[in-house]
Amino acid sequence: MINVTKTFLPAQDEYQAILKKAWGTGWMTNRGVLVKELETKLQSYLDTPNIIAMTNGTLPLQIAIKALGLHGEIITTPFSYVATTSSIVWEGCTPVFIDINPKYLTIDETKIEAAITSKTTAILATHVFGNPCNVEAIAKIAEHYNLKVIYDAAHCFGVTYKGQSLFNYGDVSTCSFHATKLFHTGEGGALFCKPQYFEAMYSHHNFGHDGPEAFQSLGINAKMSEPQAAMGLAILPYMTKIIKERKQIVHAYNQAFGTTRLKSLKIRVQTNWNYSYYPVIFENESQLLHVKEALESHSIYPRRYFYPSLNTLPYIKPCSLAVSESIASTVLCLPLFAGLATENLNQIINIVKEKLL
Ligand SMILES: *Cc1c(COP(=O)(O)O)cnc(C)c1O
Repeated sequence: MINVTKTFLPAQDEYQAILKKAWGTGWMTNRGVLVKELETKLQSYLDTPNIIAMTNGTLPLQIAIKALGLHGEIITTPFSYVATTSSIVWEGCTPVFIDINPKYLTIDETKIEAAITSKTTAILATHVFGNPCNVEAIAKIAEHYNLKVIYDAAHCFGVTYKGQSLFNYGDVSTCSFHATKLFHTGEGGALFCKPQYFEAMYSHHNFGHDGPEAFQSLGINAKMSEPQAAMGLAILPYMTKIIKERKQIVHAYNQAFGTTRLKSLKIRVQTNWNYSYYPVIFENESQLLHVKEALESHSIYPRRYFYPSLNTLPYIKPCSLAVSESIASTVLCLPLFAGLATENLNQIINIVKEKLL
């Protein structure tokens, strides 16, 4: 069976050797030695200054909204994973959806201004599949209207834009270290922010504690545990190799599909991408279903990322967004992971090409 991704696992003894350090302390969470070591190593690997490791990639979004004091309306993208929208609603704010750019699949920045009202407090956009939003245009709008900017950068591990970590853009960025993501800690994630927000974010992720006997804000528990951090530390040394291997698979797909009617993702210029996903866009949904079925009949399971368009969620006031809905119904992510055998890669390519005819 071949899935859209395959969780990378280090050798078990490598994981255990790292976990042993925590065993020695008798300390399994509350920001133990391994969480601190992981944060330090990620800071240097990603070249980004302010990081807080967390227990998943959803709580950092909710903490960002809470700790920035957002309320009212948040302008957001309908083409993302459900956590982007659910976090806004969970924090008592109203998502205002803006359609996406059909080439980059990120929020269409040219449509943001028209949606700003007196209730708007922020823009929460997703760097979809690790492809940067138009961060310069968004920063300009945010500055002009005094809005905060949060990036759901769940897919952006290792991505740089204009020579620096994509996590450095916006007031806050969040990443997911879920087992299906490029870099993982089983469940896990991180928050990255401008220095002036660090203390508030840190406090909110640890119950609002201000030392052991005092509280400074309403908080929650989003702490990463030691076994999670150990997984991250065991995997980090492999990341360069993992990304290189994925790059070769992406190049093989690009070469194979370049002459077909499939459209692939256009990466924004000056991006050093991480090859996190391989989405292809079909001319219509029936073509997609035809190819998907054919792959599944060979035990190959691509995924419809992202489907459905988030403006159609049952707890969202109905609205229509033509581009996002059209892309959501015609996009399919093909298997992409380090260790995908050439033989299987060729099989996937052949099935897709055959069924496209
Ligand atoms: C995976 C993902 C999340 C949620 O991350 P978890 O670690 O699963 O909580 C949020 N946003 C996007 C775009 C994602 O793909």
